[in-house]
Amino acid sequence: MTNSQYVPTIGIETHVQLKTKTKLFSAVGNDARQAPPNTLISHIDVGLPGALPVLNQAAIELCARAALALNTDPQKFSWFERKHYFYPDLPKGYQITQYQAPIIKGGFLEIEAGGRTKKIKIERANLEEDAGKNIHPAGADYTLIDLNRAGTPLLEIVSRPEINSAAEAKAYVRELWLLMKYADVTDGDLYHGHMRFDINVSVARAGDKLGTRSEIKNLNSFRSVEAAVAYEIKRQIELLEKGQKVIQETRGWDEAKQKSVAQRGKEEAEDYRYMPEPDIPPLELTDKFIEDVKAELPKLPPQLRRQLDKLGIDKKVTEDILDRQSIVKPILDVLAAGSPADARRVAFWLIHAQPAETEKVGIVEPEIDSARLISLSKMVDGGELSSTAAKAVFDELLSSPEDPMTIAKRLNLLQVTDTAAIEKIVEEVITENPKVAEDIKQGEMKAIGFLVGQVMTKSQGQANPKVAQELIKKQLDLVE
Ligand code: MN
Repeated sequence: MTNSQYVPTIGIETHVQLKTKTKLFSAVGNDARQAPPNTLISHIDVGLPGALPVLNQAAIELCARAALALNTDPQKFSWFERKHYFYPDLPKGYQITQYQAPIIKGGFLEIEAGGRTKKIKIERANLEEDAGKNIHPAGADYTLIDLNRAGTPLLEIVSRPEINSAAEAKAYVRELWLLMKYADVTDGDLYHGHMRFDINVSVARAGDKLGTRSEIKNLNSFRSVEAAVAYEIKRQIELLEKGQKVIQETRGWDEAKQKSVAQRGKEEAEDYRYMPEPDIPPLELTDKFIEDVKAELPKLPPQLRRQLDKLGIDKKVTEDILDRQSIVKPILDVLAAGSPADARRVAFWLIHAQPAETEKVGIVEPEIDSARLISLSKMVDGGELSSTAAKAVFDELLSSPEDPMTIAKRLNLLQVTDTAAIEKIVEEVITENPKVAEDIKQGEMKAIGFLVGQVMTKSQGQANPKVAQELIKKQLDLVE
């Protein structure tokens, strides 16, 4: 029996950390990346008796943007509930979340996988607070608790189980990441867990109803989502092939071994005793609020792809550009003020300016204005700079306020297009290489490259090679 006789079904739940300045219910800083443990906390975050949460309006705006990015409107009416469970990193004994009336219902995003476009629908997305963190120091017989993250706003986005392969799963999480980043909903710092993915995987024989699913929680990279889904599909098919059953369970992903492992203590069906949160009134959004958010929604990847298409570049390159948000604007600025050829040239300079480490923090992208980029590109068009020299000038531009011409002159990189100057060098080269010159005259045009090379060497790379070639032909009487 082959794998094609099994149909994998995958649903993905994503926790997106919203980029608000303060927490969801307290006026405490939200960015805990550099903060020492338990320094970003208040009476509300640690759940002191009588502490009253106040809803952060900025978080609601970000949820509204997220809804629009997912091709739907936010719900005009939603409310919060308490989800009860006991865990040391949750001092209140409950999480404030949304259950019956989430802020987003429906919506979809489009992915490209296996050469086709596919729509993945969103079931719902709810706004909730994050819990703290338990830290287990190696070898210690105690656990440390850091509550900096407690109360951080999260949007939990639940896909419909419409994903059918590891490649589609990876495409889904990447597209969701792009949408949330470009909609300015999250900083999207995967390294610091700004997006965490829970995958539900089951396989069934073609034609059968859904199989039993397993869940792997808290994956934090596209690669691990892809690998974990692929592993689970394979593991479950192997069990079924042996006539065994898939157990419904939560499994852990071992990144080092690239395999999932059963986690001990199979949980029973939990009863969270949801109840309406009495301290936060239900949320009602006006039409004006939604219209205002719509009016300020930044350009999103689907629209940007259509614009970048005008550069005439490979789809793969377009995606590389989208992975690095900060280079998109300069490229589109150049496209608007210059030509597609300028924009294409600038795109390649910018892509290669730094490695695309999209999944790490701390990448500082260069800021250069489009006017200087366009004039640099025009210098290549006009034969004043070779493409190698242009790259060197571009590298200087990143750290210098000078215009490209000044830099090119300072670095002595300007190409000599002055015919008289090149003519002299060509004469020398022909005199020094009589045999090659004769070969060329006899029709061995390949040999002309050698002479052009000699001209380039003698001019220290500054001669315009096209001009040099023409002059060689002229001097050897090969053209009128
Ligand atoms: Mn959640």
